[in-house]
Amino acid sequence: MPEIQKELVNRSNYEALRNALRHAVRYLDGLDRNSVAATASLAQLRDRFGGSLPDQGESPSRVIEELVAASEGGLNASASGRFFAWVIGGTLESAMAADWLTSVWDQNAAMFSGSPAASVAEETAGRWLKELFGLPDEASFALVTGCQLAHFTCLAAARWSVLRDHGWDVKRDGMFGAPPIRVIAGDQRHGTVDSALGFLGFGQTSVVTVATDADGKMEVVDLRRALRASSGPTVVVLGAGDINVAAFDSFNELIPVAKAAGAWVHIDGAFGLFARASQSKRWMVDGIQDADSWATDGHKWLNVPFDTGFAFVRDQQAHRASMSATASYIAPNKEARDQIDWNPEWSRRARGFCVYAALRELGKRGVQQLVDHCCQRARALVRGIGQLEGAEVLWEPHLNQGLVRFPDPSPQATAADHDAHTDSIIAAVNQTGEAFFSGTTWRGKRAMRVSVVNWRTSDEDVHRTIRAVAAVLQS
Ligand SMILES: *Cc1c(COP(=O)(O)O)cnc(C)c1O
Repeated sequence: MPEIQKELVNRSNYEALRNALRHAVRYLDGLDRNSVAATASLAQLRDRFGGSLPDQGESPSRVIEELVAASEGGLNASASGRFFAWVIGGTLESAMAADWLTSVWDQNAAMFSGSPAASVAEETAGRWLKELFGLPDEASFALVTGCQLAHFTCLAAARWSVLRDHGWDVKRDGMFGAPPIRVIAGDQRHGTVDSALGFLGFGQTSVVTVATDADGKMEVVDLRRALRASSGPTVVVLGAGDINVAAFDSFNELIPVAKAAGAWVHIDGAFGLFARASQSKRWMVDGIQDADSWATDGHKWLNVPFDTGFAFVRDQQAHRASMSATASYIAPNKEARDQIDWNPEWSRRARGFCVYAALRELGKRGVQQLVDHCCQRARALVRGIGQLEGAEVLWEPHLNQGLVRFPDPSPQATAADHDAHTDSIIAAVNQTGEAFFSGTTWRGKRAMRVSVVNWRTSDEDVHRTIRAVAAVLQS
């Protein structure tokens, strides 16, 4: 046996795993006590992680001790109930544990033959998700790394389909010389839509950007005008929940108009698709099932660990034709699900296990309650902060996203001063370690964004956060 193998065998006594469990519990138990924002500086972290690659190895448990020590203060407590920045979900315990086992089992979830259990867990998770979101039974799906790759997967299917309708086989002949495809999308679309289009060979000039109304929604007259402006293969991208105010396009109105023009309709529902799970919010996604493809995230509102996203495509053939791969060593299975037929990755993580676990832990009712709970906390938080002297509500959440702003109190303050003051209050709140927010620009104004997508966020977290913002405003 080579020396390294002997050493690895000797070292492997699971002490590192036991230590990791101990550290995990300590970390989660400390969420209420410790700073939400990372406190370590870049220089400190580089110093701790840095140096040259050591010549000599180390025992696994020692490595874990060192990793934990090096990360100390360098983590944002996004698992905390007082983390409201960007749109970052929490993690359910079952999903966390399933994620650990996924690493231990180390399955290559590319094909059924690579991991039968991973294939079937994923098959079930996909079916459950379609039911949860009210998507057509016949739709195919893929579990990908996030909404970015979900857009990529869905838009690849869209590209294949609209070009086929115009007599072009993109799989065989590629994009060079293909009839130009135009993409119509709202001005509040997420940057990942543009990235996905870029990966697929669309230039920026192929996107027709439609200005949205005051609430961030595309108006039907504007869509009609954009569709009329030219003909040929067309993809329309609509939004179910934008990152600032969770704006939902009126699917009932827009989708029929787009379909009548022969367009493929793709939906960005990174977190907004979850409105479907709630009785009181369901109306926001009325008509969404008539689209052709839907992209959403697992690591946001489903509260599974990073990185998990979901792509759904109505036309299985378009989906499969644009993803499926073959090679001499692939052992395809006619009966079972080979994920490689639906996914852009080849070797891949068995992310179906944690999705299955989360859905199993919550059940339909649990997802509904999680969504409602987050929406209520988001509203309470925005209202509570909005009532403070020196704060102003820009958007009260109708779902889980809201905006507040902190105008500069001096009488001569300009718009730029209000923006700068808002940014400085956000920074000061984050500095307290009590809560964490990110900034954004909405309709030309800087704002603090409030996003609640974590099962942990409690009434006490809401009150504690309002107190922290009040203290900053008074200082
Ligand atoms: C977060 C988000 C995305 C991107 O999702 P990733 O999982 O980060 O790739 C896309 N669209 C919207 C509306 C989002 O909120």
